[in-house]
Amino acid sequence: MPFSSLSDLKSQLDAGETTAVELAQRYLDRIDAHNGELNAFVDVDHKHIIDQAKASDAHRAKHGARPLEGLPIAVKDIFCTQDGPTTCCSNILKGFHAPYDAHVITRLKNAGAILVGKTNMDEFAMGSSTETSAFGPCRNPWDVERIPGGSSGGSASAVAGGLVPAALGTDTGGSIRQPAAVCGITGLKPTYGRVSRRGIIAFASSLDQAGPMTRTVRDTAMISAILCGHDSGDSTSVVNAPEIDWLAACDSVDMKGLKIGKPKEYFVDGMDAGVRAAVEAALAKCVELGAEIVDISLPHTKYAVAAYYVIAPSEASANLSRYDGVRFGKRCENPQDLVDMYTRSRDEGFGSEVKRRILTGTFALSSGYYDAYYLKAQQVRTLIRQDFLDAFEKVDIIATPTSPIPAFKIGEKTDDPITMYLSDIFTIALNLAGLPGMSQPCGFVEDLPVGLQWIAPAWREDVLLSAASAYEGATDWTTKAPAAFGGES
Ligand code: GLN
Repeated sequence: MPFSSLSDLKSQLDAGETTAVELAQRYLDRIDAHNGELNAFVDVDHKHIIDQAKASDAHRAKHGARPLEGLPIAVKDIFCTQDGPTTCCSNILKGFHAPYDAHVITRLKNAGAILVGKTNMDEFAMGSSTETSAFGPCRNPWDVERIPGGSSGGSASAVAGGLVPAALGTDTGGSIRQPAAVCGITGLKPTYGRVSRRGIIAFASSLDQAGPMTRTVRDTAMISAILCGHDSGDSTSVVNAPEIDWLAACDSVDMKGLKIGKPKEYFVDGMDAGVRAAVEAALAKCVELGAEIVDISLPHTKYAVAAYYVIAPSEASANLSRYDGVRFGKRCENPQDLVDMYTRSRDEGFGSEVKRRILTGTFALSSGYYDAYYLKAQQVRTLIRQDFLDAFEKVDIIATPTSPIPAFKIGEKTDDPITMYLSDIFTIALNLAGLPGMSQPCGFVEDLPVGLQWIAPAWREDVLLSAASAYEGATDWTTKAPAAFGGES
């Protein structure tokens, strides 16, 4: 406490050294003490959390412990939860109460986890800095003048600041990995189709996946083991996906003979020199551990951001058409007629970044432009995927920086959407390809964390976890925590 791993907390609970109620209270005290500064949580219901913890202690006493029994986990405000509001940090959903739990929320509850509240995020998960939230910007515990990344910035900030030991995020173009990187924690985006999207508010349905954000690789495995699996309620959730022994993957930590691809397109001029040095040093450590570095090329990488910013807004423009003042959330005052109600409810409810995406997407999908933009972007997507397939003929895994820069200052990029979009330059391609990716801490640039990104072939999250565990075991980055929040940096 407060920077204990989930697995340490689980051992303490199993040994009877603490109880779910005691843990919940200790983390609630941390939230009360620090959320004012970080703005990582947008909804915390103290009584409901303690009630869940009491029920968990009772379950343990009567029936024994389930896999996540009594462990506090926070979730991004994009997950529908029957308890409390679900707003996606948008004014258009203020006051919305979901009629059902997202599939992954049900899985966490059934595994005995205590849901600690909803975390801050960019509105509708569109952003890289958690500055577009209707609840105001979230802050990075390593430097509260800086962004925690985005869009799952609240989850990253809460874990990095020791307000909760683990959290869920979602990742459409990097929203788990980039905030994990700039907050110095670990995050996994599973293979597309591994995790059910039912009850996760849709941004870009062909890209969205949920995943864990934790302090250690093993904690990521513990949560993944619960989240992943088929759900008949999501048609994109894959039936009979290749199964993984998530925890065993963390024990197989021999890097000998592992071929790590180093794509030249991810080590470029213009990226931060300190980030590059930290990632190069991490790769040198992997060589010491027996891995071989193979120089590779992913030649279509340079088109990834452009293709993403056609495909993701196009899907978003369709997904967000349901917010019309009729069925969900906000309706404008005194509508004159139906069109006035639609127009004003949307105008008042959506923030400017969301409007920019809806306009871009509507334009790209409109007749006359569809072939030039949307169709072209889909073709580029296929080429990007093929680059990865070709690379995995030669290597077992790919390593890159997660973000080209460490956490930037709040407000620094808000006036320039293009530079903001470029902060995802290293994370987006693998979403387009549907591949699993992970970020783990690998050093610091002037006291700001740097993330190492691992990319594996589809369904091979075990390769990610093994490589990341080997690297984690040979370094001490996961023991670091921000001094201002009581950690050792
Ligand atoms: N930053 C990217 C965007 O703004 C990715 C967001 C995400 O993964 N949800 O779209």
